[in-house]
Amino acid sequence: PRLANQIAAGEVVERPASVAKELLENSLDSGARRIDVEVEQGGIKLLKVRDDGSGIAADDLPLALARHATSKIRELEDLEAVLSMGFRGEALASISSVSRLTLTSRTADADQAWQVETEGRDMEPRVQPAAHPVGTSVEVRDLFFNTPARRKFLRAEKTEFDHLQEVIKRLALARFDVGFHLRHNGKTVLSLHEAGDEISRARRVASVCGPAFLEQALPIEIERGGLRLWGWVGLPTFSRSQADLQYFYVNGRMVRDKLVAHAVRQAYRDVLFNGRHPTFVLFLEIDPATVDVNVHPTKHEVRFRDSRMVHDFLYGTLHRALADVRP
Ligand code: ADP
Ligand code: MG
Repeated sequence: PRLANQIAAGEVVERPASVAKELLENSLDSGARRIDVEVEQGGIKLLKVRDDGSGIAADDLPLALARHATSKIRELEDLEAVLSMGFRGEALASISSVSRLTLTSRTADADQAWQVETEGRDMEPRVQPAAHPVGTSVEVRDLFFNTPARRKFLRAEKTEFDHLQEVIKRLALARFDVGFHLRHNGKTVLSLHEAGDEISRARRVASVCGPAFLEQALPIEIERGGLRLWGWVGLPTFSRSQADLQYFYVNGRMVRDKLVAHAVRQAYRDVLFNGRHPTFVLFLEIDPATVDVNVHPTKHEVRFRDSRMVHDFLYGTLHRALADVRP
């Protein structure tokens, strides 16, 4: 089974960032309100995710590391309603096959925490008592220590950390209701407290995108024909060397979609005439029955039932907003 896990790991576990994505999604699935991520050496030496979610019962701990051991099958019956992507039931198994993994957890009705440890080897994990508040910690050490070929593909510590941080930023913009805290090599990098109101949401966007973006961005807020678009679009005065400040969410799920990109780019170009890369943090809320966000779990594509209407709504809204402030 270890070999099978390692093969499966090739798909899920590419680098520390992909491990972080799986662990954070599990934490969010468990109802966490606060997630703490601790990283050493870009996540290669250590990646620890701690949450205050529902926890895992002692009996289920070894199971959580077994393949196809998802506890989320029931949700599959209602696939359309599942916004979570963590339903494959093999992320933890895959990660544990290529690292030294410790899973510690406590449920609300248990009077103590329990822990299992694995070390990439084919062994039955033993459940031991541990100290931990209600919730779960997953500690992943020495990623790819037993798969040198894969380890060779890792980039410099800083590059791996940048990817990992990007994963957290994307999720943090999707879930304002959850606190995210990130430490790298002992230093706090992100400290995003639960953002309930408009002001704290803006503060989170400033933390994630940099304060300069928010100062030079146009707030958007419009509701029409059952569609709602809100967020910020960078003004031409906001220049940024890389064109990567492009966050677009559909019903809380980040997407990178051709139709969306086209509408935004077109509105930008038609108003500003200068071929600048658009920068934006935008949230589209739309009747879930008219959009499929599960087209491909990793490519972030969406399929709108009425794509023409969505395109025109985005284009029209942004065109009007930008034209109003054209210098
Ligand atoms: P999946 O998320 O697809 O079900 P995973 O391998 O990611 O599969 O996780 C296996 C199982 O372990 C989950 O179904 C869940 O029951 C449990 N689990 C993993 N992480 C957590 C967590 N942070 N909090 C609570 N339960 C968790
Ligand atoms: Mg999962």
